[in-house]
Amino acid sequence: MAFGSNVLSATASFDPYWWRAAPHEAGMPSALPVKTDVAIIGSGITGLVAAIDLARGGRQVTVFEAQEPGHGASTRNAGYVGRTLKHGFGEIMEGQGLDHAKRVYGELMEAFIAVKDTVEQEKIACHYRQQGRLLLATSTAMYDAMAREFALREKHLGEPFATVDRGGQRVEIASDHYFGGVKIEDHAGLHPGLYHDGLLDAARAAGVAICAYSPVAGFRRAEDGFTLFVRGQRIAARDLIVATNGYSGPAWSWLQRRIMPFDAYQTVSAPLGEERVRQLLPGDRTFIDWNFNVDWMRRAPGDPSRIIFGGLTGERNADLRIMAERLHLRLLRVFPDLTDLQFDHVWTGKCGGTFDITPRIGCHEGVHYAGGYCFAGVPMGTLFGKKLAQRILGQTGGESVFDTPPPTKFFYTGNPWFVPAAIRWMSRQDR
Ligand SMILES: Cc1cc2nc3c(=O)[nH]c(=O)nc-3n(C[C@H](O)[C@H](O)[C@H](O)COP(=O)(O)OP(=O)(O)OC[C@H]3O[C@@H](n4cnc5c(N)ncnc54)[C@H](O)[C@@H]3O)c2cc1C
Repeated sequence: MAFGSNVLSATASFDPYWWRAAPHEAGMPSALPVKTDVAIIGSGITGLVAAIDLARGGRQVTVFEAQEPGHGASTRNAGYVGRTLKHGFGEIMEGQGLDHAKRVYGELMEAFIAVKDTVEQEKIACHYRQQGRLLLATSTAMYDAMAREFALREKHLGEPFATVDRGGQRVEIASDHYFGGVKIEDHAGLHPGLYHDGLLDAARAAGVAICAYSPVAGFRRAEDGFTLFVRGQRIAARDLIVATNGYSGPAWSWLQRRIMPFDAYQTVSAPLGEERVRQLLPGDRTFIDWNFNVDWMRRAPGDPSRIIFGGLTGERNADLRIMAERLHLRLLRVFPDLTDLQFDHVWTGKCGGTFDITPRIGCHEGVHYAGGYCFAGVPMGTLFGKKLAQRILGQTGGESVFDTPPPTKFFYTGNPWFVPAAIRWMSRQDR
């Protein structure tokens, strides 16, 4: 198929679809404080959840955001809420023992519950629904490996699952592309724009100051905390949280050298009609394959006449028309009849990944940080935001099995030039 064909609708946008229901606030840079108890860099899920709990704990909190609130991945993601880690339970059990594997997956469960609790407590209308997830295999060997992995999780964690074989998968998804899969009934989905909006409202209601268009250029230790440099001004802060994940830059080179950005791409179709979408995805799950480099799709929350489709993580191409074409080709492998499909939105966002593909929370030279979620930042960012607040407030609950310094490589100074090649290599392993 030639690039430049009509896969984009006449009104297609390169902004995230989620911004339709949750428009981003354009505006002027906010007034800056002279000092604050806690400075938080980054206004995504991690930063806002921490801010809410800290403000309710009696701290004066200021969130500094380089762009408009929610500019990062928190309003660009797919809204999948599960217990996701790139390292399987069986792999961790083999390498580090059963107890460690249970602690790691126990914390993933904690993160999963944290989202449900947050949505309920803050009364966030964001289409949160435990609609179940179908993890799909792209080979029989993968199907067998999935069945073994989830049987281990059921045995040791008590988390139920059901296998769906290739013959039965059409009850869930009208495709013969996959070789069956594993269904987890309690996994959830939400609307990321509305979830973020709800967190932003809750933060403001708790008294948090949100300073938009206020990039933190850098910071240094001061006698009683930190001095931040923002828009030519100095701001004193007793405590500091860096919650910049895939958008981490030179403001803190230590973190920039440890969390690599990965671009990911997502689309939403023009309306196909509810009936057609129901025929394509009768199971109404969040669907995702089990490759390292995943493709994912779901009915659009709040608009069941559209489908969301994403993938091509780690590619780097600023021309979103080309990425739309490539995503369409990938979608046609699943649904060969969708040649007439057009996208109303195609967009990109930056995930953050560590060199050992494991999320982190920690404190380095007095600076608190969390990130490297590798596609699981909706639950992990929610949980780690809470834990960061507990640490600063001196409360219990802030400890984590993920609290070890993220590794770096001697050659890595923050330019992830090798990511596309590394991801292509991993995609070859997937095949
Ligand atoms: C396409 C896509 C699909 C995804 N799908 C899912 C999914 O379905 N489920 C899931 O759990 N996760 C998913 N993720 C990952 C998830 O979105 C992220 O892990 C999560 O949003 C990270 O939240 P955060 O608050 O840590 O960072 P972000 O939301 O990325 O926020 C970081 C913010 O820091 C700001 N910033 C950076 N530097 C500075 C500075 N110097 N001064 C001030 N501000 C600064 C940035 O502007 C940005 O707004 C997906 C990601 C992408 C890109």
